[in-house]
Amino acid sequence: TTTVYTDSDAESAQLANKTVAVLGYGSQGHAHAQNLDDSGVDVVVGLRPSSRSREHAKDDGLRVATPADAAAEADIVVMLVPDTVQPSVYETVAPELDPGDTLQFAHGFNVHYGQIEPPEDVNVTMVAPKGPGHLVRRTYERGEGTPGLFAVYQDATGEASAQALAYAQAIGCTRAGVIETTFREETETDLFGEQAVLCGGVTDLVKAGYETLVDAGYSPEMAYFECLNELKLIVDLLYEGGHMEMWNSVSDTAEYGGLTRGEDVVDREAMEAILDGVQSGEFAREWISENQANRPAYKQYRHAEQNHEIEEVGDRLRELFAWGEESKEPAPADD
Ligand code: NDP
Ligand code: MG
Ligand code: MG
Repeated sequence: TTTVYTDSDAESAQLANKTVAVLGYGSQGHAHAQNLDDSGVDVVVGLRPSSRSREHAKDDGLRVATPADAAAEADIVVMLVPDTVQPSVYETVAPELDPGDTLQFAHGFNVHYGQIEPPEDVNVTMVAPKGPGHLVRRTYERGEGTPGLFAVYQDATGEASAQALAYAQAIGCTRAGVIETTFREETETDLFGEQAVLCGGVTDLVKAGYETLVDAGYSPEMAYFECLNELKLIVDLLYEGGHMEMWNSVSDTAEYGGLTRGEDVVDREAMEAILDGVQSGEFAREWISENQANRPAYKQYRHAEQNHEIEEVGDRLRELFAWGEESKEPAPADD
């Protein structure tokens, strides 16, 4: 069975007399930097001179330097800028990585797909909270934590794993529990999950259901409620108690209909093809060249999504009905 690491497994001494450079002050960066600072760890935030985030970091009482200067004084350099810009930021900090330093990530994409190739004499680790930054910060402030992952890709000092656990403790993750993974497993399961299930699968399922009803002559409002709005109630039940909690909470008719018909809409061969594309690196190569070309396909898909009828129907219905305020997320911290 999986080992869940908690506070008692971490040695805070691992971070004593160490300086951590947090590169980026967005969703993850602002939460890591402030939690580390509150945990008594010496932190410097690395941001480009033109950065919009600089004032936020200073207002939060943190030291700010350029990424290269921050990395120069740090023992642990944490890459918390967007994944697509990490290779270029890495170029600027690479000369500042001394033997025995640590280069740390919150997602394995760039290392796993060879976009960043750190020297052999540095530790390469990952500490990834399983939640957005505002939750990582908010739970820490309440004395709680966000569950997380850690991984060691390269252990130059023999202490990479202990140091990653100490970092996970300092940002609050070991309060909730941390499990060990690898860069490969984290990267491939993350990409597969967001493509096939969480982001891609769910939105296409909703659109297909909505279009099927509207094309058959039902009202867009009814189609929206049935195929999108009620999804939250179902997901909350799944999250709280798994599939059985959900099946136990819906009607027997919904349960029988769902159990007999649900699998007809899922194409497992298509899912396997998505996983193949992730494992072979084909998806990664496509996304890297898409970025190098300034994202032409991305912009087209985004435009089509923005102009889908379901967006307009949703905007209208959210205006007309009072949705619970407690279900709304706060605005992102970097805006
Ligand atoms: P964000 O998009 O929130 O990062 C924005 C920050 O990066 C800003 O401070 C921005 O500053 C800075 N930045 C952007 N472009 C550059 C650049 N070219 N040079 C220097 N700084 C730049 O990132 P996330 O927090 O979402 O993601 C960071 C890492 O964490 C990623 O690896 C991601 O996969 C991972 N992760 C994210 C999670 C999440 O919930 N968001 C969850 C778990 C892992 P500026 O003002 O200069 O633009
Ligand atoms: Mg993910
Ligand atoms: Mg992801």
